[in-house]
Amino acid sequence: MQKNESVTVAIEDIGVNGEGIGRVNGYTLFIKDAMIGDVVEARVTKAKKNYGYARLLHILSPSQYRVEPVCEFARRCGGCQIQEMSYDQQLEFKQNKVLGNLERIGGFSRELLGQVFEPIIGMEEPFRYRNKAQFPFGTDKIGHPVTGFYAGRTHDIIANTDCALGVQVNREILEIILAFMKKYRVPSYDEKTGEGLIRHVLIRYGFATEEIMVCFVVNREGAGTYGADYSRGVGHKLNPGRAEEHDIWIVHQEILLEQLSRIPGMTSITVCPNTRRTNVIMGERYEVLWGQPFITDYIGSIKYQISPLSFYQVNPVQTEKLYGLALEYAALKGTETVWDLYCGIGTISLFLAQKAGRVYGVEIVAQAVEDARHNAEINGIANAEFYVGKAEEVLPEYYTGYNGEHPGERAHADVIVVDPPRKGCDTALLRTMAEMQPERIVYVSCDSATLARDLKYLCGCGYEVKRGRVVDQFPMSVHVETIVLIQKKTS
Ligand code: SAH
Repeated sequence: MQKNESVTVAIEDIGVNGEGIGRVNGYTLFIKDAMIGDVVEARVTKAKKNYGYARLLHILSPSQYRVEPVCEFARRCGGCQIQEMSYDQQLEFKQNKVLGNLERIGGFSRELLGQVFEPIIGMEEPFRYRNKAQFPFGTDKIGHPVTGFYAGRTHDIIANTDCALGVQVNREILEIILAFMKKYRVPSYDEKTGEGLIRHVLIRYGFATEEIMVCFVVNREGAGTYGADYSRGVGHKLNPGRAEEHDIWIVHQEILLEQLSRIPGMTSITVCPNTRRTNVIMGERYEVLWGQPFITDYIGSIKYQISPLSFYQVNPVQTEKLYGLALEYAALKGTETVWDLYCGIGTISLFLAQKAGRVYGVEIVAQAVEDARHNAEINGIANAEFYVGKAEEVLPEYYTGYNGEHPGERAHADVIVVDPPRKGCDTALLRTMAEMQPERIVYVSCDSATLARDLKYLCGCGYEVKRGRVVDQFPMSVHVETIVLIQKKTS
């Protein structure tokens, strides 16, 4: 196979990133946007010895799984990977992907998996499910501000204020901001030069409370309180004779705030300075421009206060189902000691604390632990404690009793819950978990390959898989969550 060669391919399989896979005379081609069942014409873009990549040119005969995409940018935008696949087929693909990994990497038989796994939980309405969006700002060819989404694997902005995964009000907010920027000539940030002001706008929406938060990420320090002084004329004395973009933004800010605050549900408008030349979106601090510093939302009956820098699950509807399963799998009677590792802002911990004797959460990000403690407090939950640190260090410390707080005392666990990032659990953690011999371990995973690897380890230490379920937290993308219950073997 040669680069630039045109080929006709029947797509027979789907890759981990949702791409179509087909063979031409035994040579494997990966083709983005092609789908199982399609026959396509494609041009080879990269040819290795045994496999290559090709770009979709024409669909000669469409797959039965194809649907009209809801969003006209579905192919170009990096946000969705499989929007053109029927939702039923997406769910089947995700279920198969998870079970395939458990079989191949974990060594579990199809028979066992068939017995313990219930059908995947999809969404009734698989669009407009995200409660958070971070819109990058840029400048178009004629010098006007634009916002939208990055095209796949690039930083080119596709102008689109109405992403089909986000809430409807995003559009209204972004159009107000763009019109304001255009009228008062407030420039977008330019990644290449490091000039300009507006980098990103973060919008969050509380599905349960309908509260809205807008946070401006700006390329300038002191755009908050100092700004208020400035608009009252004090700033000119502080900074005489300067008419920079920043000053324009400060002087006219009140007009923008007034417009935005009229949107029903608007609760918090903040500014977050980030002057670093980096891909990291948010800065480290924020200031309130209007309203309060956070919005409130609920998952089940637990209340969360979410600030611009807090982590919060992006799909609250599916999160509630997933954590409901965690609670069910944990099968708490009211006296158990539970460790919730990788606890984030304590979402699972607080869910479990309602039914447990005591819950200990461990999380590496100090700010998240602060949020977790605060959320425990506002919910009147007194039986949850949180530790900052690496799960693979904190748990062994408490188990071996070498920590300063409870010398000589060994931590005990009836149930351990883990919800690690994609790379899965550290071996030191798995070893300690196995030594502690909890009755049950509930594993929540966003990467079924590392889940399979870790379950294999634990099942080699006297545990067996009892239940499992895939939950589609991210329709239209290839990502999915899995929850598995393993239990101490009885015989
Ligand atoms: N269950 C949590 C989210 C878990 S996401 C919730 O719903 O809020 C995974 C979390 O693991 C992140 O918060 C991340 O900061 C944390 N993390 C990553 N590596 C870690 C480690 N080695 N030890 C403890 N926490 C870690």
